[in-house]
Amino acid sequence: MKLHEYQAKELFTRYGIPTQRGVMITRPEEIDGLDLRYPVVVKAQVLVGGRGKAGGIKLAATPAEARGHARTILGMSITGEVVRRLLVAEAADIKSEYYLAFTLDREVRRFVAIASAAGGIAIEEVARTAPERIVQHHVDPFIGFQPFHARELGTRVGLREGRLTAFAGIAASLYRLAVQEEAELAEINPLAATDGALVAVDAKVILDDSAAFRHPDRPPTEEETELERAARQAELSYVELDGDLAIIGNGAGLVMSTLDVVAQFGGRPANFLDVGGGATTENMAAALAIALRKPGVQALLINIFGGITRCDDIARAIVARPLEVPVAVRLTGTNEEEGRRILQAAGIRAFTDAEEAAREAVGLSRASGGPRSE
Ligand code: GDP
Ligand code: MN
Repeated sequence: MKLHEYQAKELFTRYGIPTQRGVMITRPEEIDGLDLRYPVVVKAQVLVGGRGKAGGIKLAATPAEARGHARTILGMSITGEVVRRLLVAEAADIKSEYYLAFTLDREVRRFVAIASAAGGIAIEEVARTAPERIVQHHVDPFIGFQPFHARELGTRVGLREGRLTAFAGIAASLYRLAVQEEAELAEINPLAATDGALVAVDAKVILDDSAAFRHPDRPPTEEETELERAARQAELSYVELDGDLAIIGNGAGLVMSTLDVVAQFGGRPANFLDVGGGATTENMAAALAIALRKPGVQALLINIFGGITRCDDIARAIVARPLEVPVAVRLTGTNEEEGRRILQAAGIRAFTDAEEAAREAVGLSRASGGPRSE
């Protein structure tokens, strides 16, 4: 999960890495109320790089100028991402730009510290044309990134005295952040030298999604819809699409093949939800609530291959609530007969064949008079 700059800078502050004071805003009028020292820098908050080159970063000497920039940048599209948020920050008086990052080197299974005295927007160019200006240090996980490692790295990029000490402190903090927050990348570009200090002018953090369960306080991603958030909290994998047939299955492979079969019959999935290999009545109830809440859903297809998951548990969840739309169910595997009996008692027919169930579901979504794609 990529963090926006303003979110990454909140993390930086928590770890003691100096950044400029700044505020995230969504409307140009908010600039008037800000308690910031001018000049400020107005920065597009999008999850792509190269914002500066794309015109998404502008300096302003007065609030009027900042408002003007805010109006220009909000709504702008940068590499396909529409700008909906801005960071307004006290501008740094930049004398020179360094680069500093920790990222996972998967080949050697270690974090690698990368630093350069040629930071800023041309760092990719430097990597290509003058790779010797970029220095690296692989971190031994048992020894960690010690102060002497940090000072050595700083020395190799040409830093001395007070600035070297500042750099070593920032590098140590950035490493701590990367490890504790379980980041795949923690990058400062530029790490700007001003008259008296080093300041993280930009911040890029990518968190390892596989570790999300250990970090319940992580910010939700901007792209997440309300239903996607509900699914994440219920520990279900959920994907939103724009058709009219809701799909629930157990197991990623089964769900993928269900999508294919639905497409083959001309159906258009509204979403799909994987309740997982060991789904319980509770998982299934949560899945039903989420899948059916999506606006525009005309029918529901449930495809369950019982293994650890028991068909009767699934059936109990289905009959436990009124279904807002017609449903087609495919149920095979563990406790299949019991599951089918429970459904039949509630007037729901259960198929054993996935294709038949899919054909029926697509027909139901059509019959309900939902939006069509022909
Ligand atoms: P990116 O283009 O998405 O990497 O965004 P950055 O935040 O790195 O900004 C790009 C460039 O804009 C920086 O390398 C700086 O040259 C310039 N810039 C950004 N913030 C400031 C600032 O506070 N003061 C000054 N003088 N320049 C800035
Ligand atoms: Mn940058």
